Amino acid sequence: MAQIYERVALIGLGLIASSMYWAMKRAGVAGEVTGYARTSGTRDVAREIGLCDRVCESAAEACEGADLVVLCVPVGAMKEVAAEIAPVLKPGATLSDVGSVKGAVIAAVAPHLPKGVHFVPAHPLAGTEHSGPRSGFAELFDNRWCLIVPQEGSDRTAVERLEAFWQSLGANTDEMDAEHHDLVLAVTSHAPHLIAYTMVGVADDLRRVTDSEVIKYSAAGFRDFTRIAASDPTMWRDVFLNNRQATLEILGRFTEELFALQRAIRTGDGDHLHAYFTRTRAIRRGIIEAGQDTDAPDFGRARRP
Ligand code: NAP
Repeated sequence: MAQIYERVALIGLGLIASSMYWAMKRAGVAGEVTGYARTSGTRDVAREIGLCDRVCESAAEACEGADLVVLCVPVGAMKEVAAEIAPVLKPGATLSDVGSVKGAVIAAVAPHLPKGVHFVPAHPLAGTEHSGPRSGFAELFDNRWCLIVPQEGSDRTAVERLEAFWQSLGANTDEMDAEHHDLVLAVTSHAPHLIAYTMVGVADDLRRVTDSEVIKYSAAGFRDFTRIAASDPTMWRDVFLNNRQATLEILGRFTEELFALQRAIRTGDGDHLHAYFTRTRAIRRGIIEAGQDTDAPDFGRARRP
């Protein structure tokens, strides 16, 4: 594939940045890739595993001369990093991010941008419950969506170049405004994570069920909650603090539906429960038909002999 950016800088070297690096190398779309992470331990690991062509000692050093800078730090750290790198961004460069929330990140980053730098926020809808520089892999974005959030007056060439870049990493791209993005993600990702955290917390609190029973019998649905609830605490704290409004709106609706289902159970309204579960099953089918998950039983987990 042809080169899309001559110099790319990744700020933050965790799951997303490391997956981007390996996917860039697979596609051959970037010349030199520089990287920076806050702690020397992470920078050492990056050097050890060959993550980035050059690991720098400051974010500003990594960004000097870059055509594309991607902020891959937790949402709550975006502001501080943007302020630090703003003076060295080269005119004509594109600044992007991969934050799971868009409205708050745009509000935090945009005021620091020098004239002549194109700010094109983005969000790849791909991840795992693992974090850190060793957790990335080149296939993470394959056939996943990456939402691009152009700003008013964004340079179309810069937007289309970033879209082509994400497509070269294996993703499908779509454009969306920040407010709509934050609502869609509150439904599809943020509220489900909070529910998983709650469910696992409840199981932990239930003294009637011993720890060993929770673990032993977890295949019956609970195991999938535990996977989600193992996601990075810093990242998810920042998501909820920065997508407050949309998450609270969805959780409000969730609570109403939960009460309705609770009532149906109490009153023995089987028709209500059956109709509800039929509707949700159709949603699952839609996700599979869209190629966004596997149809294999138990998510394709290997069966024990
Ligand atoms: P991660 O694996 O925990 O890595 C975060 C990286 O950011 C680490 O290298 C960390 O450095 C660095 N960092 C934290 N604060 C920093 C600061 N103030 N200055 C410089 N570096 C800093 O996180 P991730 O999963 O890659 O997530 C990164 C971003 O992608 C987040 O905004 C998240 O919302 C978004 N995202 C995540 C997922 C997902 O499922 N994980 C999916 C889509 C988007 P140290 O190691 O040195 O602390």
